[in-house]
Amino acid sequence: MSYTGPDFEPPQPRRSRLRRPLTVAVAALVPGALLGWGVYAAVGGPDDGGGGAGDAAGAGTSAAPSSDAPGSPGGDAKRRAGSSPAPAAGSGALRGKVVVIDPGHNPANFQHPSEINRKVNVGTHWKECDTTGTATNAGWPEAKFTLDVAHRLRDLLEKQGATVKLTQDGDRSYGPCVDERARIGNEAKADAALSIHADGSGTGNRGFHVIMPGPVHDGAADTRPIVAPSAELGKRVAGGFERVTGTAPANYLGDGTGLVTRTDLGGLNLSTVPKVFIECGNMRDATDAALLTSSSWRQKAAQGMSEGIVSFLRG
Ligand code: ZN
Repeated sequence: MSYTGPDFEPPQPRRSRLRRPLTVAVAALVPGALLGWGVYAAVGGPDDGGGGAGDAAGAGTSAAPSSDAPGSPGGDAKRRAGSSPAPAAGSGALRGKVVVIDPGHNPANFQHPSEINRKVNVGTHWKECDTTGTATNAGWPEAKFTLDVAHRLRDLLEKQGATVKLTQDGDRSYGPCVDERARIGNEAKADAALSIHADGSGTGNRGFHVIMPGPVHDGAADTRPIVAPSAELGKRVAGGFERVTGTAPANYLGDGTGLVTRTDLGGLNLSTVPKVFIECGNMRDATDAALLTSSSWRQKAAQGMSEGIVSFLRG
């Protein structure tokens, strides 16, 4: 994308998560099994059950609707982005599981054109380190969308007991490069990795799609061991996303399945762990943009992704 964004806000001040002490206190008082059940019930469970369950779970976990304005999602980011360490993953359905969330792009990439245009080897070819990403027609950047959804998803997965790592948290001047984004998942030995994006396509092109790795064996890339588990992850993430958000699969690619396989993305080619991308919608379409800029919809988006990941990890 050649998008050059408007001036960006300075990095949000970080502060510790206010909910952590309460969570720890409750965890100390409630027997582990009961707490686990409570978390399970609160999110509607990992099964791809009835259609109503997803919506109910999404509504039940929505953030306060205080930051629905496209330009002000920072309230959520500020509240969610804490410098305190994540709680010990001691209970919940995902205890012992590691999930790497990759918020696509970086809000400051546009300020570092030479760095992000540097070519990195993605196995099949050389490719730019990273890109600026797209934006809504009103100028709200994809990189802010991806980070906001990543924070929401992190919170949901941590409540299930997962250990969650972000490839970037608005804490770097640019990037990371796509090869490093893959490497972070590999080194974390992630049980699942999800790269979050929104598309920049033509007006009238609507809906979400999940991108899965195709078989690549070239240079440093060998996706053959992850093709099958990534396809499973992709199907479950797409299913959860569609069910909870009520959003239709993309009408402009994927033949209406919401699933696409690609062999040109470094973040997938270089992954050694199950990994998919999700393009949550088309930022350049006004109807999709109205969803993407809604904080309540983003909470549903994260809930849908979370349910797909939980379903995948529980088998
Ligand atoms: Zn993107």
